[in-house]
Amino acid sequence: MANGSFKKQGSAQGGLNPSARLLVAGWIGSMVLVALLTVMLTYDFSDDESAPERNAPAAGQMADSGQDQGVVESSPDTQIEGSDSSDQTAANESAEPEEPAEPQFMPGLELAGRTGIVQLAASSLPPSDVVAEWCRGLAERVNGVASSDCMSGAFADSGHKSVNGRPLIVRQIDATSRPGSGRVMLIAATHGDELSSVGTVFSWMNMIAEEGTGYEWRVAPVMNPDGLFHEPPTRVNANGVDLNRNLPTAGWAKESRDYWRRVGFEKRRFPGESAGSEPENRWLSEQIEEFQPNVIISMHAPYGVLDYDGDFPAPQKMGSLNLHRLGVYPGSLGNFASRMKGIPVITVELDDADEPPSDDEIKQMFTDLNGWLDRYFRSVRQASAGNTSADAG
Ligand SMILES: [Zn+2]
Repeated sequence: MANGSFKKQGSAQGGLNPSARLLVAGWIGSMVLVALLTVMLTYDFSDDESAPERNAPAAGQMADSGQDQGVVESSPDTQIEGSDSSDQTAANESAEPEEPAEPQFMPGLELAGRTGIVQLAASSLPPSDVVAEWCRGLAERVNGVASSDCMSGAFADSGHKSVNGRPLIVRQIDATSRPGSGRVMLIAATHGDELSSVGTVFSWMNMIAEEGTGYEWRVAPVMNPDGLFHEPPTRVNANGVDLNRNLPTAGWAKESRDYWRRVGFEKRRFPGESAGSEPENRWLSEQIEEFQPNVIISMHAPYGVLDYDGDFPAPQKMGSLNLHRLGVYPGSLGNFASRMKGIPVITVELDDADEPPSDDEIKQMFTDLNGWLDRYFRSVRQASAGNTSADAG
C-alpha cells in the first residue's frame, strides 16, 4: 500500500504532469497570442494617432514645400515612430512647440508671412516693364506721385489683371525693427475717381522707406486701375461695379439688392450681379488670404472722416480727420474683413478726392496711424502671451 500508495501517488503525480504541462503550454500559448495581438493593436493604434500630429507641422510648411512633400515625409517618419515608443514621444514633443505658435487671438499673427511675392520686391532691382509703364501713367494722372517713386523695383506685378487687363501692382515692405510683430495691408483707389488716396499712400510709402517700420506692409495703391485711368476717372470698375459693394459678405444677394434700391439704382453704386464677381475683388480676397493681415487700412475720399470696423478700440483721430462711423454696407471691405474674417479695418475718407492733403497733414496722419498700430499690436501681443501662459498653466 505504501508502495502502492507511493506508486499511486507517484503515478498520480505522473498522471497529473502531462495534463498540467498541456494546461501550462496552452496558457503560455494563449498569453503569447494575446501579447502578439496587443503588440499589433498598439502598433497600429499609435501609428494612426501619430499621423495627424506629424501632419500639423508639415501643413504649416505647406506654403514652402507643398502638400505632396508633406505626405511623402510623414510616412517614413510614422514607421520609425511605430517601432519605438520613445522615438514617438520625442517626435510628439518636438512637434508640440510649433502648435502654440499658431496664434489663437489673431489668426496668423505669429506666422512668418514671408512667402509669396516677397522675392519679387527686392528694391535693388530695376522695375519690370509692366511696373514702369504703370508708374509713368500714375505720375501723369495723380498728384503726389512721381515716377521716381516706383522706379526702385520695390513694386511687383502680381500677375493678376483688372477687367480691362491692367496689371494689379503690389508693394511689400518688410519690417526693419521688431520683425514679424504685425502685418498691415494698405489699399487705395478702390474707387477709381478718388485720386487723392493714391497720392497719400505714395507719401506714406516714402516715409516708411525713409524711417523704417516696425510692421510688415503690403500695399496695393491702385485697386481699381480701370476706373482710375478712365477718362474721366470713375468710381466703378470697367464692368460698372462698385468694388466696395461687391465683396462676398454674409447675406449679400438680398442685402445688396435692398441697398441698391435704397440708393435709387444709382449706377455709381451698382453692387454687381453676384458677390465677389469682379477680378479686382477676387485678387483682393486672395491677397488677404495669402498675407493674413492683422489690420487693413483702406483709403477713400471725399467725406473727410475716419471710419472703423473692429473690436479693438477705434482710432479717434488721424490728422484733422475725426472718427465718425459710417456703418457697414453689404459687400464693403469693412463688412467683409472685419465681420467675416475678424480683421479690423480703418477706412480713411480724405476730404478732397483729387488733391492729397498737405505734407504736414499727411505726416501727422501717419504719426497718428502708427500710434494706433502700436497700441493695437501691443494689445494683441499681450493677449497672445496671456493665452500661451494660460495654456502652459
Ligand atoms: Zn471711396
